[in-house]
Amino acid sequence: MLDLGYIVATVLFVFGLKDLSRVRTARRGNQLAALGMLVAVVVALAGAEKVSWTLLGAGLVLGAAVGAWLARRVEMTAMPEMVALFNGLGGFASLFVVLAQFWNDYLLSAVEVQGEAATQPVTLAENPNFFPVGAVTVFLTVLVGAVTFTGSLVAVGKLSGRIPGKPILLPVRHLLNAALGVAVLLLGWLLAFETSGWLTATLLIFVALLSAALGILLVIPIGGADMPVVISLLNSYSGIAASMAGFVLGQQLLIVCGALVGASGLILTRLMCKAMNRSLANVLIGGFGDTGGGGDQSEYENVRSASAEEAAMILESAGSVIIVPGYGMAVAQAQHVVKELADLLERHGAQVRFAIHPVAGRMPGHMNVLLAEADVDYDKLWELERINNDFASTDVALVIGANDVVNPAAIEDPESPIAGMPILNVHEAGTVLVVKRSLSPGYAGIKNPLFERDNCLMGFGDGKQFLTEVVNELKEAG
Ligand code: NDP
Repeated sequence: MLDLGYIVATVLFVFGLKDLSRVRTARRGNQLAALGMLVAVVVALAGAEKVSWTLLGAGLVLGAAVGAWLARRVEMTAMPEMVALFNGLGGFASLFVVLAQFWNDYLLSAVEVQGEAATQPVTLAENPNFFPVGAVTVFLTVLVGAVTFTGSLVAVGKLSGRIPGKPILLPVRHLLNAALGVAVLLLGWLLAFETSGWLTATLLIFVALLSAALGILLVIPIGGADMPVVISLLNSYSGIAASMAGFVLGQQLLIVCGALVGASGLILTRLMCKAMNRSLANVLIGGFGDTGGGGDQSEYENVRSASAEEAAMILESAGSVIIVPGYGMAVAQAQHVVKELADLLERHGAQVRFAIHPVAGRMPGHMNVLLAEADVDYDKLWELERINNDFASTDVALVIGANDVVNPAAIEDPESPIAGMPILNVHEAGTVLVVKRSLSPGYAGIKNPLFERDNCLMGFGDGKQFLTEVVNELKEAG
């Protein structure tokens, strides 16, 4: 029955993941996966021996309460921070579960055995509770779990602005990282020969501490603009740590779930690297987003602005409009008025579509979520590859709070820090109307030459406020 339960949970996870890959089915996917998790918890508890129900119940209530409170409180724009925090805690949990298991099955049993003087002290790998596979995975879980934990905390700090988003480049960082990596591996190797329980424990604690330092050093040189990739990679790491913990505990379900998280995190990482036209190695080596060198750093010239009334007039006479939302739409919470505007323009006979850049906003799918909340039809959302050639034949590109994802420097200036990142070619449209509050840069912190183009007009103001005025103007004009 227990095995059957595990299979049911696994199947639910797999189908949940499958559904999550499409906006239309994502909600159901989330529910299926949550149900899978419930089945998994129930089955795991049903199969457990010597369970302290009070402790488990208290943990469950406390965890659920904190989780629900955090999730309800979090702003949509801070969601990536929360995801990063969850990843970090996932790694931390795996680390502690494995250390607890080690404490129980190795340290305590070793003491008992030695107390009776029945057998020789054994190494971790010879201990019947672990054997080589368990021993290697204890080491790997501690390593990956600690890296994930501290790496995620640095990512959270960078995203929330508590740590500067700019890459922090220590002078001998590559050497330092290599030295730490070698030291951790050396400790792992020593673990294989250590027979004293307490020395083994000390070695493991040192593995955890050095890995924690490694996690910090690996993430601080990476610029804020690359954080989505890092978070997705750390998500994958947290899955790997969980999967390893599954080996230590002999828990097949944990192995499977961890592998699912590990693999899907890696796939997402790859997709995001592709969207930014960067290799994973390039992201991880860091330094991107350090705008100290490269790229156009001159002042803006020839910027032309348009009032809400002028914007309304331009939109009114447009036959085709592509709306490009970005992070600013999320900040302004302008999605509902954007939808209202799109409906109005359609009623005026214009063809209206939305162009979605894969890294617009601050998390994968950010724009999709907001537009879905405002009931924008899925069929109107076009991905970058599908719509990019259509800008040239479009009357108006209406950019709302997007900046980096429409920056032509990415394709025109090889010195630009975002050179090579695919962008939405809004500059090819007849008229580009950019709604944002000022000429401030976006996430990558760089100038956007789009704003100086002859076909570009700036609608300065808060996204929601400006578009509400535009909508009112259009309504007045009938
Ligand atoms: P950007 O961060 O490039 O630009 C957002 C713009 O929104 C700013 O220039 C800002 O200008 C404007 N803005 C802010 N508040 C408002 C408001 N209330 N009303 C109107 N405009 C506003 O956003 P993009 O979406 O173009 O690009 C996303 C960037 O974030 C990329 O560099 C990407 O790599 C990075 N990133 C993406 C993640 C993801 O997974 N999607 C996660 C983390 C980072 P102003 O201040 O003048 O109003």
